[in-house]
Amino acid sequence: MIPDAPAYDIDLSLPGSESAVSELLAVRPADVEPADHLSFCRNVFVPLTTACRYTCTYCTYYDPPGQAELLSPAEVRDIVRTGAEAGCTEALFTFGDDPDDRYTQVHHQLDSWGFGSIHEYLRRACEIALEEGLLPHANPGDQTREQMATVADRNASMGVMLETTAEVQAHGGPRAKSPGQRLATIRTAGELGIPFTTGILVGIGEEWADRARSLLAIRELHERYGHVQEVIVQPVAENERWQGPTPDLETLRRAVAMARAALPETVSLQVPPNLAPAGEVVDCGIDDLGGVSPVTDDHINPDYAWPALDALRDIADHAEVPLRERLPVYERYLPADFRADFEGTPAPTPAPATDGGSSPGGGGWVPEQVQDALRAETDAGRRFRAVLQGESL
Ligand code: SF4
Repeated sequence: MIPDAPAYDIDLSLPGSESAVSELLAVRPADVEPADHLSFCRNVFVPLTTACRYTCTYCTYYDPPGQAELLSPAEVRDIVRTGAEAGCTEALFTFGDDPDDRYTQVHHQLDSWGFGSIHEYLRRACEIALEEGLLPHANPGDQTREQMATVADRNASMGVMLETTAEVQAHGGPRAKSPGQRLATIRTAGELGIPFTTGILVGIGEEWADRARSLLAIRELHERYGHVQEVIVQPVAENERWQGPTPDLETLRRAVAMARAALPETVSLQVPPNLAPAGEVVDCGIDDLGGVSPVTDDHINPDYAWPALDALRDIADHAEVPLRERLPVYERYLPADFRADFEGTPAPTPAPATDGGSSPGGGGWVPEQVQDALRAETDAGRRFRAVLQGESL
């Protein structure tokens, strides 16, 4: 059993030296270079559970106890099979954070299916996705090391939004989520050698300096472990629970430019076109448009439908850059034999686990089960390789 790492051992002041914050605060869109391409990933949303121990005031995803949904294994299989048949590559497992004791129905249901925890069930759900020809990318919120290790060897990549390092009212109330826990989750992913997606949420009450500190904290963790594959810059959007202000275009453009300046070139930068005018921030350095789903709604932001693939093409055409499909794990993290046409910089081998435990990737970034899926002589395996060879569009 891998012991839990302490949840709060990151010094938030570490990356935020005042000079680094000041440098980032001075960045404007004209200071960064536009990317030479835009990428996207075909995915299906699998909202495994809408139970969440937190109650963020801008979030329409979570349902209270008694109303929260938990997809059955058969429902998971139906969704991922439909996605695979539609040509997707990613099963995006969305989650509330670890359902707490108030969600008795969820726990009883899991128990009746033979699962001792939501992470045990997530592991099985990821296996179903692999069986049906999709690569799992799970985003189950804060996780302990033990929880992450339970599912890591069945995922191509994982993620959690940092959102902000600031303590904000929007996370408040009796069950407030903490920036320290989110940072600890990102750090744990680094320790386990998991290609990881994170990001900042703009407009939930944080100041400009908090945005800079959040980006510097992500950079600090990436410099330690090399595992951050992409960073999302997402503006908070109006919905039935959030009628507060939303960031204007100028704010979004400056935040994106700051992110581009803060992060190494090898870390992808994404703005989701269903939540933001992505076409108007391409010159601020984004190189990814996130997931596009032909078969499911965006269950985290159901008021905002995913744009069609044609809309992504329009954004790329307008920016005069090529549009490329990608897998849920970025190419630089794949074993060398999958990178024949890759022109970027491969990720360095992950550092060995400090506690002597083995990483899910067995010394590399991608677990054996995911590599098997990529090599398989099946429709899915051929689809994955076509994406890598740039033959899918
Ligand atoms: S934003 Fe995430 S952590 Fe917050 S209530 Fe929604 S699902 Fe839970």
